[in-house]
Amino acid sequence: EATGETKEFLFKILVVGDIGTGKTSIIKRYVHNIFSYFYRSTIGVDFALKVLQWEQNIVVRVQLWDIAGQERFGNMTRVYYKDAVGAMVVFDVTRTSTFEAVSKWKSDIDSKVRLPGDAMIPVVLLANKCDLSKDGLVRNAAQMDKYCEEKGFIGWFETSAKENVNIDKACRALVAKILEND
Ligand code: GDP
Ligand code: MG
Repeated sequence: EATGETKEFLFKILVVGDIGTGKTSIIKRYVHNIFSYFYRSTIGVDFALKVLQWEQNIVVRVQLWDIAGQERFGNMTRVYYKDAVGAMVVFDVTRTSTFEAVSKWKSDIDSKVRLPGDAMIPVVLLANKCDLSKDGLVRNAAQMDKYCEEKGFIGWFETSAKENVNIDKACRALVAKILEND
Protein backbone atom coordinates (compact mmCIF):
# COMPACT_ATOMS: atom_id res chain seq x y z
CA GLU A 1 0.00 0.00 0.00
CA ALA A 2 0.88 3.71 -0.02
CA THR A 3 1.96 3.30 -3.63
CA GLY A 4 -1.28 4.55 -5.07
CA GLU A 5 -0.38 8.22 -4.82
CA THR A 6 0.07 9.82 -8.24
CA LYS A 7 2.29 12.86 -8.49
CA GLU A 8 1.29 15.47 -11.02
CA PHE A 9 3.46 18.21 -12.42
CA LEU A 10 2.70 21.12 -14.69
CA PHE A 11 5.72 22.43 -16.56
CA LYS A 12 5.67 25.63 -18.56
CA ILE A 13 8.16 25.30 -21.38
CA LEU A 14 9.03 28.11 -23.79
CA VAL A 15 9.72 27.55 -27.46
CA VAL A 16 11.77 30.40 -28.93
CA GLY A 17 13.94 31.09 -31.95
CA ASP A 18 13.81 33.14 -35.12
CA ILE A 19 10.81 33.33 -37.42
CA GLY A 20 10.29 30.37 -39.74
CA THR A 21 12.59 27.98 -37.86
CA GLY A 22 9.71 25.60 -37.19
CA LYS A 23 8.61 26.38 -33.63
CA THR A 24 4.90 26.08 -34.35
CA SER A 25 5.50 22.97 -36.45
CA ILE A 26 7.45 21.32 -33.66
CA ILE A 27 4.67 22.02 -31.17
CA LYS A 28 1.96 20.75 -33.55
CA ARG A 29 3.95 17.63 -34.23
CA TYR A 30 4.65 16.98 -30.58
CA VAL A 31 1.16 17.67 -29.31
CA HIS A 32 -1.11 16.65 -32.21
CA ASN A 33 1.25 14.59 -34.38
CA ILE A 34 0.53 16.64 -37.48
CA PHE A 35 2.60 18.63 -39.95
CA SER A 36 1.67 21.22 -42.54
CA TYR A 37 3.57 23.68 -44.69
CA PHE A 38 0.90 26.26 -44.05
CA TYR A 39 0.62 27.39 -40.46
CA ARG A 40 -0.85 30.78 -40.09
CA SER A 41 1.72 32.69 -38.15
CA THR A 42 0.26 32.95 -34.72
CA ILE A 43 -0.40 36.38 -33.36
CA GLY A 44 0.80 36.88 -29.83
CA VAL A 45 1.25 33.91 -27.58
CA ASP A 46 -0.33 30.52 -27.96
CA PHE A 47 0.09 27.40 -25.91
CA ALA A 48 -0.54 23.71 -26.23
CA LEU A 49 -0.71 21.00 -23.64
CA LYS A 50 0.61 17.46 -23.76
CA VAL A 51 0.05 15.04 -20.92
CA LEU A 52 2.78 12.49 -20.33
CA GLN A 53 2.48 9.37 -18.22
CA TRP A 54 6.08 9.76 -17.17
CA GLU A 55 6.27 6.87 -14.77
CA GLN A 56 3.61 4.71 -13.25
CA ASN A 57 3.03 7.26 -10.51
CA ILE A 58 4.11 10.42 -12.26
CA VAL A 59 2.03 12.47 -14.66
CA VAL A 60 3.63 15.48 -16.34
CA ARG A 61 1.59 18.14 -18.07
CA VAL A 62 3.82 19.85 -20.55
CA GLN A 63 2.60 23.28 -21.51
CA LEU A 64 4.46 24.51 -24.58
CA TRP A 65 4.42 28.25 -25.14
CA ASP A 66 4.63 29.34 -28.74
CA ILE A 67 5.36 32.88 -29.82
CA ALA A 68 4.57 34.62 -33.01
CA GLY A 69 4.97 37.95 -34.56
CA GLN A 70 7.28 38.88 -31.72
CA GLU A 71 10.29 36.90 -32.91
CA ARG A 72 11.42 39.81 -34.99
CA PHE A 73 12.21 41.78 -31.84
CA GLY A 74 14.59 39.03 -30.75
CA ASN A 75 13.25 38.97 -27.23
CA MET A 76 10.01 38.54 -25.36
CA THR A 77 8.26 40.30 -22.51
CA ARG A 78 8.67 39.11 -18.95
CA VAL A 79 5.05 37.93 -18.85
CA TYR A 80 5.91 35.32 -21.44
CA TYR A 81 8.85 34.08 -19.37
CA LYS A 82 7.09 34.12 -16.02
CA ASP A 83 7.22 30.78 -14.19
CA ALA A 84 8.80 28.90 -17.08
CA VAL A 85 10.82 25.91 -15.92
CA GLY A 86 12.41 24.97 -19.24
CA ALA A 87 12.88 26.13 -22.82
CA MET A 88 13.74 25.08 -26.34
CA VAL A 89 15.68 27.29 -28.69
CA VAL A 90 15.05 26.39 -32.32
CA PHE A 91 17.15 27.18 -35.38
CA ASP A 92 16.81 26.17 -39.02
CA VAL A 93 19.78 24.13 -40.27
CA THR A 94 19.38 25.62 -43.74
CA ARG A 95 19.71 29.24 -42.55
CA THR A 96 22.91 30.30 -40.81
CA SER A 97 21.42 33.55 -39.55
CA THR A 98 18.98 31.58 -37.41
CA PHE A 99 21.89 29.79 -35.75
CA GLU A 100 23.64 33.09 -35.16
CA ALA A 101 20.53 34.25 -33.31
CA VAL A 102 20.62 31.28 -30.93
CA SER A 103 22.94 32.85 -28.36
CA LYS A 104 20.81 35.98 -28.28
CA TRP A 105 17.72 33.88 -27.52
CA LYS A 106 19.60 31.99 -24.83
CA SER A 107 20.79 35.21 -23.16
CA ASP A 108 17.28 36.60 -23.29
CA ILE A 109 15.99 33.53 -21.43
CA ASP A 110 18.77 33.61 -18.85
CA SER A 111 18.26 37.28 -18.16
CA LYS A 112 14.50 37.03 -17.71
CA VAL A 113 13.77 33.79 -15.91
CA ARG A 114 15.53 31.88 -13.17
CA LEU A 115 14.71 28.97 -10.90
CA PRO A 116 14.43 29.52 -7.17
CA GLY A 117 18.03 29.89 -6.01
CA ASP A 118 18.90 31.73 -9.22
CA ALA A 119 19.90 28.70 -11.31
CA MET A 120 19.30 28.95 -15.06
CA ILE A 121 16.31 27.01 -16.35
CA PRO A 122 17.28 23.99 -18.49
CA VAL A 123 17.29 24.75 -22.21
CA VAL A 124 17.69 22.40 -25.19
CA LEU A 125 18.87 23.46 -28.62
CA LEU A 126 16.97 22.13 -31.63
CA ALA A 127 18.64 22.03 -35.05
CA ASN A 128 15.39 21.78 -36.99
CA LYS A 129 14.59 20.83 -40.61
CA CYS A 130 17.31 18.18 -40.61
CA ASP A 131 15.31 16.45 -43.38
CA LEU A 132 16.53 19.24 -45.68
CA SER A 133 20.24 18.86 -45.08
CA LYS A 134 21.63 16.10 -47.22
CA ASP A 135 24.73 15.37 -45.16
CA GLY A 136 23.03 15.62 -41.84
CA LEU A 137 24.04 18.55 -39.77
CA VAL A 138 25.55 21.78 -41.07
CA ARG A 139 28.12 21.71 -38.28
CA ASN A 140 29.85 18.77 -36.73
CA ALA A 141 28.70 17.09 -33.56
CA ALA A 142 31.84 17.87 -31.56
CA GLN A 143 31.48 21.56 -32.39
CA MET A 144 27.85 21.49 -31.34
CA ASP A 145 28.66 19.74 -28.04
CA LYS A 146 31.27 22.38 -27.30
CA TYR A 147 28.90 25.16 -28.27
CA CYS A 148 26.19 23.80 -25.96
CA GLU A 149 28.61 23.53 -23.08
CA GLU A 150 29.83 27.09 -23.57
CA LYS A 151 26.35 28.54 -23.85
CA GLY A 152 24.82 26.44 -21.08
CA PHE A 153 22.42 24.29 -23.09
CA ILE A 154 21.67 20.89 -21.56
CA GLY A 155 22.03 19.35 -25.01
CA TRP A 156 21.12 19.60 -28.67
CA PHE A 157 19.10 17.50 -31.08
CA GLU A 158 18.75 17.44 -34.83
CA THR A 159 15.02 17.51 -35.36
CA SER A 160 12.50 17.42 -38.14
CA ALA A 161 8.92 18.41 -37.48
CA LYS A 162 8.17 17.20 -40.99
CA GLU A 163 9.59 13.69 -40.61
CA ASN A 164 9.00 13.49 -36.87
CA VAL A 165 12.66 13.09 -35.95
CA ASN A 166 13.88 13.47 -32.37
CA ILE A 167 11.10 15.72 -31.17
CA ASP A 168 9.86 13.33 -28.50
CA LYS A 169 13.43 12.59 -27.54
CA ALA A 170 14.33 16.26 -27.12
CA CYS A 171 11.23 16.93 -25.02
CA ARG A 172 11.91 13.89 -22.89
CA ALA A 173 15.47 15.05 -22.21
CA LEU A 174 14.20 18.44 -21.18
CA VAL A 175 11.43 17.08 -18.93
CA ALA A 176 13.90 14.68 -17.29
CA LYS A 177 16.17 17.60 -16.47
CA ILE A 178 13.29 19.67 -15.11
CA LEU A 179 12.21 16.78 -12.88
CA GLU A 180 15.77 16.55 -11.52
CA ASN A 181 15.47 20.17 -10.43
CA ASP A 182 12.13 19.60 -8.77
P1 GDP B 1 7.87 29.33 -36.81
O1 GDP B 1 7.77 30.70 -37.41
O2 GDP B 1 9.18 29.16 -36.08
O3 GDP B 1 6.71 28.97 -35.95
O4 GDP B 1 7.95 28.29 -38.02
P2 GDP B 1 6.76 27.39 -38.64
O5 GDP B 1 6.45 26.24 -37.76
O6 GDP B 1 5.63 28.28 -39.04
O7 GDP B 1 7.50 26.80 -39.92
C1 GDP B 1 7.96 27.63 -40.97
C2 GDP B 1 7.96 26.84 -42.27
O8 GDP B 1 8.92 25.80 -42.19
C3 GDP B 1 6.61 26.18 -42.56
O9 GDP B 1 6.38 26.21 -43.96
C4 GDP B 1 6.82 24.75 -42.10
O10 GDP B 1 6.00 23.84 -42.78
C5 GDP B 1 8.29 24.53 -42.41
N1 GDP B 1 8.93 23.54 -41.52
C6 GDP B 1 8.87 23.52 -40.16
N2 GDP B 1 9.57 22.47 -39.67
C7 GDP B 1 10.08 21.82 -40.73
C8 GDP B 1 10.90 20.65 -40.89
O11 GDP B 1 11.30 19.98 -39.94
N3 GDP B 1 11.25 20.31 -42.17
C9 GDP B 1 10.82 21.02 -43.27
N4 GDP B 1 11.21 20.59 -44.45
N5 GDP B 1 10.05 22.10 -43.15
C10 GDP B 1 9.68 22.52 -41.92
MG1 MG C 1 5.03 30.09 -35.41
